[in-house]
Amino acid sequence: MDKKKILIVEDEQKIARFLELELKYEGYEVDIANNGRDGLEKGKAEDVDLIILDLMLPGLSGIEVCRRLRQTSEVPIIMLTAKDDISDKVTGLDIGADDYMTKPFAVEELLARIRVLLKRTKSNKDRTDLGTLEIGRLKLCKNNYKVEFDGELIELTKKEFELLEFMMLNKNIVLTREKILDKVWGYDYFGDTNIIDVYIRYLRSKIDQKYNINLIETVRGVGYIIRD
Ligand code: CA
Repeated sequence: MDKKKILIVEDEQKIARFLELELKYEGYEVDIANNGRDGLEKGKAEDVDLIILDLMLPGLSGIEVCRRLRQTSEVPIIMLTAKDDISDKVTGLDIGADDYMTKPFAVEELLARIRVLLKRTKSNKDRTDLGTLEIGRLKLCKNNYKVEFDGELIELTKKEFELLEFMMLNKNIVLTREKILDKVWGYDYFGDTNIIDVYIRYLRSKIDQKYNINLIETVRGVGYIIRD
């Protein structure tokens, strides 16, 4: 099992260093960001399993870092706040932080909450780490981005893979173009939904047509479906 990686976003070096030592002692891998911008960048990395985010940061505040991370990521976030200010905590939880601790805190309590969150929440990485999906003779392996039909490898681009994965995860459900766009392309994409039809065509040529099956069905005027 991989070591879980925790990112500490904290401008006070003494606290960051202290947390780093404690977390490493507990067997976690640790990365540190000393300001909000750095924290936002590092927090987007796929291999981060949990973020400890100080609220009072120079430049980009912890609240803002949390808000922006939540646009693309469900990585667990524990906020640290020096103030016993209830409105900060409410704001933090409202915009998607999973938990908070008020400084000074007992490190044992922080460690306990980290354990709970790591068990409960899926990290960036774990969302594509749930194993294998199978429909008929088609097999999609999330751990290594492999798709096989009857054991024969199908070469897909990353987007094609993600689209197929999303459709297989939601098998037997009609998926609208808007929903696919939102879930597979996400917030980075500002074009129209025609892109979905283009990618469905790519998948059909690589799977349906190649193996002479009817995997991806069109639901006229609505979207697409993969049936079990
Ligand atoms: Ca601070």
